Amino acid sequence: MAILASEIGLRTISHWIGGGARDAIETNKVAPGRSGVVWNPATGQPQARVDFASVDDVDRAVAAAKRAFPKWRATSLSRRSEIMFRMRELVDQNRRKLAETITLEHGKTLPDAMGEVARGLENVEFACGIPNLLKGGFSEQASSGIDVYQIRQPLGVVAGITPFNFPAMVPMWMFANAIACGNTFILKPSEKDPSTSIYLAELLQEAGVPDGVFNVVQGDRVAVDRLLEHPDVSAISFVGSTPVAKAIYETGTRNGKRVQALGGAKNHMLVLPDADIAMAADAAVSAGYGSAGERCMAISVVVTVGNVAEPLIQAIEERIARIKIGPGMEEGNEMGPLITREHRDRVASYMDGAMGEGAKIAVDGRTHAANAGTGFFLGASLLDQVKPGMRCYDDEIFGPVLSVVRAKTYEEAVGLINANPYANGTAIFTRDGGAARQFQFDVEVGMVGINVPIPVPVSYYSFGGWKGSLFGDLHMYGPEGVQFYTRAKVVTSRWPDPGTSSVDLGFPQVR
Ligand code: NAD
Repeated sequence: MAILASEIGLRTISHWIGGGARDAIETNKVAPGRSGVVWNPATGQPQARVDFASVDDVDRAVAAAKRAFPKWRATSLSRRSEIMFRMRELVDQNRRKLAETITLEHGKTLPDAMGEVARGLENVEFACGIPNLLKGGFSEQASSGIDVYQIRQPLGVVAGITPFNFPAMVPMWMFANAIACGNTFILKPSEKDPSTSIYLAELLQEAGVPDGVFNVVQGDRVAVDRLLEHPDVSAISFVGSTPVAKAIYETGTRNGKRVQALGGAKNHMLVLPDADIAMAADAAVSAGYGSAGERCMAISVVVTVGNVAEPLIQAIEERIARIKIGPGMEEGNEMGPLITREHRDRVASYMDGAMGEGAKIAVDGRTHAANAGTGFFLGASLLDQVKPGMRCYDDEIFGPVLSVVRAKTYEEAVGLINANPYANGTAIFTRDGGAARQFQFDVEVGMVGINVPIPVPVSYYSFGGWKGSLFGDLHMYGPEGVQFYTRAKVVTSRWPDPGTSSVDLGFPQVR
């Protein structure tokens, strides 16, 4: 990869293998050249380079994790819990530094990044309870003198591949439970904002996680492909776009691995005629444009029922006009830039096409003053009269573009949501408890909000969509995360009583 003059002298972000970054840097001297640029989205300038792992780098990380596994899985539950408590304290003490690291590379505002850290931290807090979470069942006297019990044991070396939009939270969704359960972990973060992964590695080390238990390989598809085929990797957790999630699920399971692969989304917010318009507009604007729409739980479609469209659109327009757009590090800004120039331009292209497809541009973010500089900014846009079949409806845009689809009835609105190939999150806004309960019953989506626009479950439930938003059997984090990172073993036990022992060639029966 050619290096531009503007990139000379940039710091390099590298891997974290076997408890430090040094090992990887030395290897990169042997095989230089595969690296990428890390941009500052607020300025549009390169700010660092990130090494891209080779097959050898991944193999060294897997070997380090494999070496560390026997001792780590034998480490007592109370010690593992103690380390998680320490990690909890360290993340808590360094919230702001973590958030700044996120904002500098991702672009989201500092308060938003603080929110991300807080939601990630919940997962470390959940994992502090690992002694309780790993308790199995015990059946005394299942047969005469025989007890049966189930234990849950770690899988071995497990890997997590994460997206750019939550560089702290999504890794914490994965590694907190994985490590607490006794596995050793390899993180392959997004190459677009890699620094947070190294910061988390340092905090884990300071918390007492032994070398090799947590590793980071930076990079692209080369690293992912090697993790997918490596015989010593037992399980893969993935979060990212749907085509990649599907491919990872198919390849990983074909190679005999346990895989959970979370994909993209197109989240609908249904607004019934009885809804509080101001509250619904606040929610639509917060959930549609927060983090510049780069959230898998962002609302991207508002489905209005009956005559609610006109007043709601007017209320949304009023709020859009007040959104403060600018660099995420500057106090007071509510929406930052998009992750890259290419992504910004791709998002803007949906506005170019919308009119031709019959949609109406109610607010055009392409004309916002913030777009004028070198940063990757794009103003908030609102499309009205959107219908299935239009590119702006069918695609996951992943930017600050909110579409309004007008439905005549509740049935039409729910039918539209259920026909969508994605099924990550959805929300209903109404004052009618019966209607909300019916929606919860009818809707074919994994996470549902009732007057809550971004229903990301708390850490003691599990996160996951349905259909094209999740490939695999188990959702991420929470109780299902513990299940994913462990396998059950059932023990049938008898302590011999010489007085009752005899030869019996019959099949063992319960008696
Ligand atoms: P992405 O799919 O481009 O990348 C995700 C990860 O996969 C990155 O680490 C990347 O390096 C790697 N990758 C990319 N292309 C690959 C390929 N062809 N083969 C192997 N690995 C590859 O996603 P992104 O742009 O980083 O993140 C945004 C997407 O993630 C959106 O679609 C969003 O909805 C989704 N997302 C989903 C959830 C969820 O919980 N369902 C959460 C966050 C983000």
